[in-house]
Amino acid sequence: MPRLNAYVRNPRFLENTTVRPLYLVMPTNAGHVQDAVRCGRRHNMSIRVRSGGHDYEGLSYRSVNASDFAVLDLSELRTVLVDSQTSTAWVESGATLGELYYAIGNVSDVLGFPGGVCPTVGVGGHFSGGGFGTLMRKHGLAVDNVVDAELVVANGTVLNRTTMGEDVFWAIRGGGGSFGVVLKWQGGLVTIPATVSVFKEAVSGSEGAVDKVTRWQKVAPALPGELYLRVRVQEKKADFRASFLGGCDDLRRVMNRSLGLNGADCKEMTWVESVAYIWLGSNATREDLLSRNTSKSESPNSFKATTDYVRQAIPRDAWAEIFGKLV
Ligand SMILES: Cc1cc2nc3c(=O)[nH]c(=O)nc-3n(C[C@H](O)[C@H](O)[C@H](O)COP(=O)(O)OP(=O)(O)OC[C@H]3O[C@@H](n4cnc5c(N)ncnc54)[C@H](O)[C@@H]3O)c2cc1C
Repeated sequence: MPRLNAYVRNPRFLENTTVRPLYLVMPTNAGHVQDAVRCGRRHNMSIRVRSGGHDYEGLSYRSVNASDFAVLDLSELRTVLVDSQTSTAWVESGATLGELYYAIGNVSDVLGFPGGVCPTVGVGGHFSGGGFGTLMRKHGLAVDNVVDAELVVANGTVLNRTTMGEDVFWAIRGGGGSFGVVLKWQGGLVTIPATVSVFKEAVSGSEGAVDKVTRWQKVAPALPGELYLRVRVQEKKADFRASFLGGCDDLRRVMNRSLGLNGADCKEMTWVESVAYIWLGSNATREDLLSRNTSKSESPNSFKATTDYVRQAIPRDAWAEIFGKLV
């Protein structure tokens, strides 16, 4: 139980009513994964694959209906090998994003990988689903930068990009983990300037939050690709956070011209330090990226996020109404 619960990231599923697996398999090499897949098939035991356990519905470790199943937990398969000569990295699925970013930062200050902002998310599930993060406006999603992978398929054999073929290779990058067990991924690293800037500014209702959020919708799509600027609207405030591939002078200029923000607390650092700063806060160090404990800023309560899109900007009146309802 402790091992199963260690990577249950949604506390709701720690309750007794959760349908738990009959077996927990923790492979330490590729052969163990192949054996588990073959064994499951022979005994008609379905397998759920878990890497970082961040699935919001807990589907990597629980069943919705009463059933017998096994969990294949990849958390012991977490080697990251960075090759600065070819600007690539092989990362095993059980590594976290934080472990991947840390390993890249240890080798170079001018290489990075576009992926999500939460360091405890597992590479296996994240790359199987897409991977949004601060570099996406310039470099795309995590899956756009995966160049090879090793996949254990239903008969237990291991395929790489060449042997699985381009259709399957396309499907495992976004298809949600239905095509086999991905052992490891090869990512193409992207070039990052030695200086990255981060910036936070909270604007209250009386400081013009409604106008700024309304304007942000219009200007954000046209901002330079080097700039990731998100706004979180809560507690009657608009909380702007930016990460910029460049120095503070340039970031302040863009922020001031586009949104009238002054960027007083802008800080310059390396990319890997900026990754720690954005999720873990201003006192975080790059070593904090290695922690597998649920990140400081994650709620200890049940937490779920979802993404939606609007085709037209939300009008100012609607934002005023939304701010009026916030507590
Ligand atoms: C706190 C938090 C922050 C997040 N932040 C971001 C973010 O910034 N950007 C973003 O894009 N997403 C983000 N997510 C969403 C996250 O990327 C997905 O939930 C992702 O699927 C989690 O991967 P995991 O390995 O941790 O989860 P798991 O629960 O282990 O796996 C998720 C799914 O992938 C399958 N799977 C896992 N490993 C493998 C494998 N090796 N082979 C085949 N299938 C596999 C599982 O069976 C399951 O269906 C966040 C989620 C949380 C909870």
